Formats: sequence, structure tokens, C-alpha cells
Amino acid sequence: MTYAVGIDIGGTKIAGGLVDDEGRIVREAREATPGDAAQIPEVVAQVAQQVRGDAEVAGIGIGAAGFIGADRSTVLFAPNIRWRDEPLAERVCELTDVPVVVENDASAAAWGEFRFGAGADSDDLLLVTVGTGVGGGIVHRGQLFRGGFGVAGEIGHLRVVPDGLLCGCGRRGCLEQYASGSALVREARLRLDEPSAGPLREAVGDDPDRLTGPLVTQLAQDGDPLCDDLLADLGRWLGEGIASLATVLDPTVVAIGGGVAAAGDHLLDPIRRAFEASLPAHGHRPLADLRLATLGNDAGLVGAADLVRSEPV
Ligand SMILES: [Zn+2]
Repeated sequence: MTYAVGIDIGGTKIAGGLVDDEGRIVREAREATPGDAAQIPEVVAQVAQQVRGDAEVAGIGIGAAGFIGADRSTVLFAPNIRWRDEPLAERVCELTDVPVVVENDASAAAWGEFRFGAGADSDDLLLVTVGTGVGGGIVHRGQLFRGGFGVAGEIGHLRVVPDGLLCGCGRRGCLEQYASGSALVREARLRLDEPSAGPLREAVGDDPDRLTGPLVTQLAQDGDPLCDDLLADLGRWLGEGIASLATVLDPTVVAIGGGVAAAGDHLLDPIRRAFEASLPAHGHRPLADLRLATLGNDAGLVGAADLVRSEPV
């Protein structure tokens, strides 16, 4: 058995796991993400040491949101952490003395799903993660596709609306402004005054912070038509976006992951409908199999650990 450490750096917590070569997490730890980005390598090293114990490991794989260089070592740009050209792998390696690679979190999750989850029966996979933002990862012919500069797969920033809503990336009309959990909450707020929003208003009460993606999902699952409609809208954006991606990438399997995927068929059915309706030459070509991701929040951590093992530095 070869073990590796997987680390998932999130905006609020740094999660770590000791992962075996069948993708099982055998030991876990987590710490709060420090507000000062300069302290993150130290906390990563601490979490890694906690899960590693005295186990022999192939290395540490780190999944982080942002643009990761082709060297699998440098964070070129992170949206939520003040990192610009941060030599993250080098810093963590100095503190731990084992090989370290850094991967984009959605790419790491795609690899995890490909090896041990929704794509385990396939030779390729497109993973679309729908959470606060929209991310993606591409596996082609059994290999993670990183692109020439390492920053491929940023599907949340496909422009879907000319001169649309301003995005955190600095451009307008990106898919994630219409198809993310944040967009779901924004649209739900806009519809709170509608006559059909009674159940949603009741659930939110006078506390707007209670209007969250999971609440909309819960109400949709309880049969609320407005919340079902909100998810259907989100699914339509995603299905159309995935059709554009499939036009270029031609994947056999597309998996939907991230927090919003908890909505299950309430999201997957409208995605499928929009995907099929938007695909060029529909009816005259094989259709990719759209399914839910299966590893949940662990996908990135498990994938990052497996990448340091299967593609050593
Ligand atoms: Zn954008």
C-alpha cells in the first residue's frame, strides 16, 4: 500500500487526509485557514504532519482554488487568498521534506472522480463543480488535462452573456455569474416578493442570511415550485454551457459535483434537457452520459493525493 497526503485549501478551512492507493482516506485533520496568507504553508505542513503520523508517504498533493502554473508548484493567482506568484509547493516542501505538488482544486477533484468516483468506468471525464463558483476539470485518455500553461479548465469563466454581470475575474458575463450557488441565492432574493414565494419567505423569515443554496435545494426537494424553478434556471445555464464544452471536448462522461449537486435530479434533469437541446447535430451523434459526482467534498483531497503518487515531481 502506498500512501499520500491530500490537502484541500479552502477559504475557511484547510483539510487534510492520508489517502491509500484505493482512494480511501484513512486519517483526517483540519485547521482554520489563517487570515494572513503568509502563514498558510505552515498550517498546511501542520495538517499534513497530523494525518501522516509515522506513515511512509509518496508526497503531499495540495488542491487550491486559482490559477496554478504548469510547474504544479506555483499559485499564479488565487481569487480568495492574496497570492500572486506564490511558490507554495517549495514553501511546504521546505517544512515537510517530502515531494509536494499543487493542483487547481477542481482539476484535483476531476482526477479524484476519474480514479475512484463518477468516472471510474471511463477513459475520460469532464467534471463541472457547482458551488460558490463554477469550476471544472478535464481528464482525457487517462490523463489530467492542464493545458499549455497549466490553467486549462476554467469553465466558470466562459463568457455566456455579452456585457453581462461583472465577474470576480474582471470580465463580464461569465458562466459562474449565472450558474453558481451564488447566482442561485441572488436570483432567489430577487423573487422573494413574488406571490409564489410564500414558502421561501416563511423559511427565510426576517433574516436574509438564511436564504442559502441548501435552503433552496431543500424546498425544491419538498416540492416547492418556485425553488424547483430556480434550480431549473440554473440547470439550463449549466446544460447550455456543457453543450458548448462538449462541442469542443467530446467527453463520454460529464459529472456534476460541488455543493449544489446535492439538489440531485432537480438540477440534473434540467441540465440534461438543456444539454441535449443545445448540442449541435443533436439526434445524429452519441450523447455524453451526465451524472452526479460521487466523492462529495473529498474529491479534491483524494485526487490531489493520488496525483502526487501517479505523477511524481
Ligand atoms: Zn469570470
